[in-house]
Amino acid sequence: SNRCLIAGNWKMNGILEEALEFLSELEANPAPEHVEVALMPPFTLLHSLSKPLDEKGVRLGAQNVYYEPKGAFTGSTSPMMLRDAGCHYVILGHSERRDIMGETNAVVRHKMDAAWSAGLEPILCIGEHLEERESGRTNEVLKSQLAILADVDADAALTIAYEPVWAIGTGRTASPEQVTETHAFIHQELQRLGHDCRVLYGGSVNPGNAEALMRCPGVEGALVGGASLKADSFMQIVKAAA
Ligand code: 13P
Repeated sequence: SNRCLIAGNWKMNGILEEALEFLSELEANPAPEHVEVALMPPFTLLHSLSKPLDEKGVRLGAQNVYYEPKGAFTGSTSPMMLRDAGCHYVILGHSERRDIMGETNAVVRHKMDAAWSAGLEPILCIGEHLEERESGRTNEVLKSQLAILADVDADAALTIAYEPVWAIGTGRTASPEQVTETHAFIHQELQRLGHDCRVLYGGSVNPGNAEALMRCPGVEGALVGGASLKADSFMQIVKAAA
């Protein structure tokens, strides 16, 4: 369906030369019409990739934002700056920011409000750690991460990405059964909170497992890390979603 989004999160990877090579490889791999494609390069590449990606029908996103509109916040980037650079999306609540940079659910919600007020669409990442899954607390963790949506307008532009932390960068993908079961819980929880938004899967998605993952009920696309760094593997994943 046209709800399907394949998004590439480059994390802290990519210099201009590599980005230009990625763009030239995209020429040989056009996206199928009915799959939305987006790329989240580092901040330093946003302005230079904005126009060439737009020409190829690829939407631009950032990996983070600060919640203040402007001022003395050295090293931070505002939502309007991201709009100015051509961004449609912003990834928020990624486990790397939660776990390494200490971002709480409250900070994530603050950033979401700022993103919406500038016209950005947040991609809210949620996901449990291995010990949480193994002790049967997955749904409880996801529920508390989604609770920040309780008083959010039903029509707010929003995409959710379910990324089990133990599957990120590990090559250990969640099984189709785990993905189906967890996405069903997430959709149920979203419905309870009054939201009907798209839910992506993320965590070691690659050209070999993409088709099986994208076929799981309740999965409406993917947030791809490592396999999005090369246009060839990224576009194979896009085609698997078509
Ligand atoms: P990998 O695809 O490298 O596991 O990363 C997933 C991710 O964190 C995307 O945001």
